Amino acid sequence: MIRKKIPLRMCIACREMKEKRDLLRIVRNNSGVISLDFKGKAAGRGAYICDSVGCVEKCIKKKLLNKVFSAEIPENVYEYIGNDYKNEILKREEQKRAEENNEKTD
Ligand SMILES: [Zn+2]
Repeated sequence: MIRKKIPLRMCIACREMKEKRDLLRIVRNNSGVISLDFKGKAAGRGAYICDSVGCVEKCIKKKLLNKVFSAEIPENVYEYIGNDYKNEILKREEQKRAEENNEKTD
């Protein structure tokens, strides 16, 4: 049986190889703006990181993006990424709660 090869990417924090859907993309666009790319479609140079609090925190604490993008990434960019990630998790939790509520009322 021939199987399609699933492309793997390495997490910059734990260095594990994972499927793209289990990872988040961190993108640096042409103007040097760094952001989390939750949809994986933003243009620019990208790095991958696990969609987990542990890896995102490690990336922020160890300033891993400096190495990845070969640049001095300012502190506030890391703060921004941390907040962005927390917001996304909160949003997902809210969504989950809303779905659960819908199931109850149906
Ligand atoms: Zn990881």
